[in-house]
Amino acid sequence: MKLQDLQLQTPYLTLDGEGEFYDLCEPTPLEEPCLVSFNPDAARLIGLDAEAHRDPLLVELLNGTYLPKGAKPHAMCYAGHQFGHYVPRLGDGRAINLGSVNGWHLQLKGSGETLYSRMADGRAVLRSSIREYLMSEAMHHLGIPTTRALGIIGSNTKVLRDRIEHAAIVLRLSRSWVRFGTFEYFYYTKQYRELEMLAEYVIAESFEDLKGDEDRYFKMFSRIVDSTARLTAQWQAIGFNHGVLNTDNMSVAGVTIDYGPFAMMDDFNYYYVCNHTDRVGRYAYGEQPNISYWNLTMLAKALTPLIPKERTQEKLDDYGAFIYQDAYMDQMRRKLGLEKKEEGDDELIAELVGALHEATVDYTLFFRTLSRYDGEKEPLFDIVMDPLVMDKWLKIYDRRLEKEARTHAQRQEAMLRSNPKYVLKNYMLQEAITLAEKGDFSMVERLLYIAAHPYEELPEYEAYAGDTPEISKNIGLSCSS
Ligand code: AMP
Ligand code: MG
Repeated sequence: MKLQDLQLQTPYLTLDGEGEFYDLCEPTPLEEPCLVSFNPDAARLIGLDAEAHRDPLLVELLNGTYLPKGAKPHAMCYAGHQFGHYVPRLGDGRAINLGSVNGWHLQLKGSGETLYSRMADGRAVLRSSIREYLMSEAMHHLGIPTTRALGIIGSNTKVLRDRIEHAAIVLRLSRSWVRFGTFEYFYYTKQYRELEMLAEYVIAESFEDLKGDEDRYFKMFSRIVDSTARLTAQWQAIGFNHGVLNTDNMSVAGVTIDYGPFAMMDDFNYYYVCNHTDRVGRYAYGEQPNISYWNLTMLAKALTPLIPKERTQEKLDDYGAFIYQDAYMDQMRRKLGLEKKEEGDDELIAELVGALHEATVDYTLFFRTLSRYDGEKEPLFDIVMDPLVMDKWLKIYDRRLEKEARTHAQRQEAMLRSNPKYVLKNYMLQEAITLAEKGDFSMVERLLYIAAHPYEELPEYEAYAGDTPEISKNIGLSCSS
């Protein structure tokens, strides 16, 4: 399909009450927009052909100057707990939704002020836009539920952050843009009828099979708990630190949303905090499972007009008792090439986390190297600072492997498909940004390619598969974007 044939629906606008659920608004175009990158993979989701990148309408679509048929630009209203404190009204301050096609909702991020911009400018800088564009694609190809990104434009529009920067727009796609904070908005403003309408909308959008079910609100909550547990377990297993897990950045569809000061772990550090404005480490890597739980309790509270508290609490207790842990164990067993569930696996994995923390080793490189382990320990000793710690854990792992039926070769093959060779580390993204700020977008393209092939051997990109250069390890990132 060509861009001019794109036809959008706007189901969110059937929720009546402009100013409560959403506000109709117009994108404010950027000056001298230029295409930075186009992602044919995401284009396919909405039925566009790869040739769309040659179409001048593409830049216009991203800049908001071409509205597809049926598009009705609107910003969504939501609230949320930011760093533990309730903020009664947030909303899409710099994102404008156009409508949806094939169940994918198109959103322009950075397209100017909306009713919810508060004191800010409604813009996104090129730096943070490139980060979100590439990382969301990388997460998708790692099998982690996420929003997607169709393309990105840069511009000559200048915006002030810590310094003057150029503004950009990313066209994001999501199956849903409803956040925990969307429910919170209607709960704290005591608009319970609207709260119920939102629940019905979410069921239609994300849990269609529950439509008409007598117990649908509880089942919806239950599904959100399960998918959030699974998603969080995937973040932990891949070594992803989101950085700003406020309730407004939690999706009811259980996907990763709103990429800000995130990081893929360099050397493993359980207490790692990628967001350097997070001084107390509320959103540290190791805290994410607890924070997801806390965020779910906030969602449960917002749903009290619809579901008795005891029922949501019971489900939350299950998250704490086994739902999260089971999801995490499944992920980690896969990474370790273990097919069977054995007693003692919890300890094996807890010991590994402790050993990785102590031994000083690149998280991704460790698992990729372990994927080729056949009893020969040298390759692993070569990549850690403290081989003794590693040796101790490998002895436990050796004993555990004896209980498996797979051969070394079979296990290795499975592990090479579960442990990526390439993840997008912050230093790589930074290289692409530095070049892009000079007008060279070639590295963005290269990283988009790497992002799409995380498990493959790519000899030309070998340099990005190793340890992070010492000077670039664990760079702190600010929320400014
Ligand atoms: P975030 O943590 O980036 O997801 O953003 C938190 C809230 O601040 C959301 O409501 C955003 O829409 C809003 N926001 C962030 N940056 C801007 C900006 N430059 N202009 C307007 N609103 C913004
Ligand atoms: Mg956000």
